[in-house]
Amino acid sequence: MILIKNVSAILDSKTYKESVDIVIKDSKISFIGDNAKENNYSKVIDGSNLIAMPGFVNTHSHLAMTFMRGYAEDVTLQDWLYKYIFPLEDHLTYDMVYFGTLLAAIESIKTGTTTVADFYYHPQATLRALSEIGMRGNIGIAYASKPFMDKVIIEEVERKFRELSGKDEKILISLAPHAPYTVSQELLKYTKELQKKVGSVVQIHLHETEKEVIDYMKSYTRTPIEYLASIGFLNEFVVAAHCVWVSENDIKTLKKNGVWVSLNPESNMKLGSGLAPIDRFIDAGLKLAVGTDGVASNNNLSVLEAVRIVSLLAKGISRNPRKLSVTDAFDILTVNGAKALGFNDVGVLKEGFKADLILVRKDLPEMVPMHSPHSNVIYSMYPDSVNTVIINGEIIMENRKILTVDEEVVKKEFKNLLSKLIQK
Ligand SMILES: [Zn+2]
Repeated sequence: MILIKNVSAILDSKTYKESVDIVIKDSKISFIGDNAKENNYSKVIDGSNLIAMPGFVNTHSHLAMTFMRGYAEDVTLQDWLYKYIFPLEDHLTYDMVYFGTLLAAIESIKTGTTTVADFYYHPQATLRALSEIGMRGNIGIAYASKPFMDKVIIEEVERKFRELSGKDEKILISLAPHAPYTVSQELLKYTKELQKKVGSVVQIHLHETEKEVIDYMKSYTRTPIEYLASIGFLNEFVVAAHCVWVSENDIKTLKKNGVWVSLNPESNMKLGSGLAPIDRFIDAGLKLAVGTDGVASNNNLSVLEAVRIVSLLAKGISRNPRKLSVTDAFDILTVNGAKALGFNDVGVLKEGFKADLILVRKDLPEMVPMHSPHSNVIYSMYPDSVNTVIINGEIIMENRKILTVDEEVVKKEFKNLLSKLIQK
């Protein structure tokens, strides 16, 4: 059992307590209140100079893209993908994804993220990396179409889904068809059937660029979102990344079907894809979460930075400072993301909920004063202000040192593999 004594706590987007004790038993928070009972605690953390809050949730990333950080800059999306990213990805091995994911997980934890969504090559390597470091995650089995192979592909996806599910209680497995422009309509139908069978989350890129929507409409006379709705694909299990180029009708369709939208503004701006109409999403009451996307197009994994940009864009685009309150931004950063990824007892600090929390020092200049602690988090705090990270009741980082893996070894192995990858 862990006791965090006399800590200031942001319990959720609306609640802040000045000085409480938090007790963690096994994977869960067992007590929040005044004067926790004396007990045989395995660890007591003096919280008098700390603020506890729920860990952050990143709902869209490709973790092992750490290999491509800064590799292709200032080029068009087409060149970025076809000249730089795809050729390198052809040579990614299991070991590369494993160490690339570990490096990404270290960066994520050091910037306050406790739950992450991923889909990429070698999902079994991603699972191993997240399990070893002790992170919560939803890992997608990624796939795209190949001519005449759709039936075989979906069978292979189901096999991998079943093989990886249940290996780690913190990790859920999901289906991750890449996007409607790389996955055939047939394979999208198979995906819908498989989702109904296994009940998982589905991660997909939707309406990221103007070109993909225009091309789709030329071929099929409707938008990808309209098509997906017509086959019954869209529901509350779908996490749609990007949604930059959407019509009013698309927004209504997303709302009607309860789809989660993962906003990734840094990636969209960096690749020149445009800006999602966040203000219209808010007006329509869409379910919003936030993601970083891979670091090849961001170029870091701080989801705190991403939500700050979401909030500034909502206000800037609408020319309305009331658009996206601090409360809503905090939900987007924490509990919304958790729910989107299928974790219903994560994202708020509450007795009986999972002990996924971060501790931030109160005496850092950017945390002084605290007229509104939530505002300090959304607008002032630096991602590396995070001091200690607990996931599923386990201390993963303490005083900025990662305890579960050796950070220096990971960086060394990563650099070795990177030099091999670049030689290819
Ligand atoms: Zn992506």
